[in-house]
Amino acid sequence: MKVCALGSGSTGNALLVEGPEGLILVDAGLSWRELKARASRGGFSLAHLKAVVLTHEHADHVRGLETLARRGIPVFATGGTLRALGLEGTAVVPGMELAGLRIFPFPVSHDAAEPVGYRFDCNGLRLGLATDLGQVTPEVMRHLHGCQTVVLEANHDLGMLLAGPYPWPLKTRIMGPYGHLANDAAGQALRTLQGEARAVLLAHLSQENNTPALALETVALALDGWKGRLYLAYPDRPSAVLS
Ligand SMILES: [Zn+2]
Ligand SMILES: [Zn+2]
Repeated sequence: MKVCALGSGSTGNALLVEGPEGLILVDAGLSWRELKARASRGGFSLAHLKAVVLTHEHADHVRGLETLARRGIPVFATGGTLRALGLEGTAVVPGMELAGLRIFPFPVSHDAAEPVGYRFDCNGLRLGLATDLGQVTPEVMRHLHGCQTVVLEANHDLGMLLAGPYPWPLKTRIMGPYGHLANDAAGQALRTLQGEARAVLLAHLSQENNTPALALETVALALDGWKGRLYLAYPDRPSAVLS
């Protein structure tokens, strides 16, 4: 099982998961052209794309969806997400198999219709993914436990958000329980998982209220003594390929 974030953050989210029988795209927030170009930079070919699964209906996760659907790529999402998008797709069911991976959606706390994170299981290996969440609930922790690879949101630094230019209502939305995860909160959650995850990819970093260095530093401090590796997802280019 390999994972590569093709793009991450409010400018567009898309992440590839490679299973034994092909590729799954988690979210489609980039144009087909960008997806193709970035996939090939990461060493993947979208000719092997079997399905797209959505976390929720916000524009930064679905902007490129229409082209994918037109190309006949099956779309899977929760019933709430499909209804919010007015889409025909198939409801994602826990334990269903796509590209040789077993897939388990789990609810996350975010201001969308029925937002989820995903866990992918394959031959005893587990990948957990949760971005766009205002808080790490016990349900999220339950699914991230035992994952060797974790993709987790590190959206903002609380100090930068508070001091930054956003209007107050937007700040409270981002900080709130249905908003986005702060670096500190991501670090605390990962600390609880310590020893289990071998690789962690920090994702959905804000370009206004965070810096890559700050996200890495905050999480690394919380994970003091951890033997795994930390990676970053980027808005404009593919991440490293984690396997
Ligand atoms: Zn969102
Ligand atoms: Zn988002």
